Amino acid sequence: MAMALKFDIEAIALAKEQLDIRRPVKILTARHISRGVVGNHQYKDGKHIINLLDPQVTPNYTLWHELAHCAQSEQYDSFDETYQSVARLALGGLVTRHTGYILNPFELDANKIAQENSPTKILVTRY
Ligand SMILES: [Zn+2]
Repeated sequence: MAMALKFDIEAIALAKEQLDIRRPVKILTARHISRGVVGNHQYKDGKHIINLLDPQVTPNYTLWHELAHCAQSEQYDSFDETYQSVARLALGGLVTRHTGYILNPFELDANKIAQENSPTKILVTRY
């Protein structure tokens, strides 16, 4: 299947404003990220980098989810460390690779933001 995501730059700029994301966001598409992963977020050299799997079933939701991580990460000097320690605090001894991800408060928050905002299309698909 051909690469098919089309980004609505203006809508994404509004989404950034709405989520109070101050730093630049670079969005890349990839045919493969890692097993079961439809998107991820990194912060590097003063800018956010979002990787989006293309094709995928819920790209608009995924992009909102990753933008939520951009907003979250701007609240901390080291988001990666905070992400891990918040999981340990929230889950105690129940932290595993899996629960530390799916039950991580930052993930639950990003899912909530994605759920609330996904009716707003910030990209379109041409599948
Ligand atoms: Zn996430």
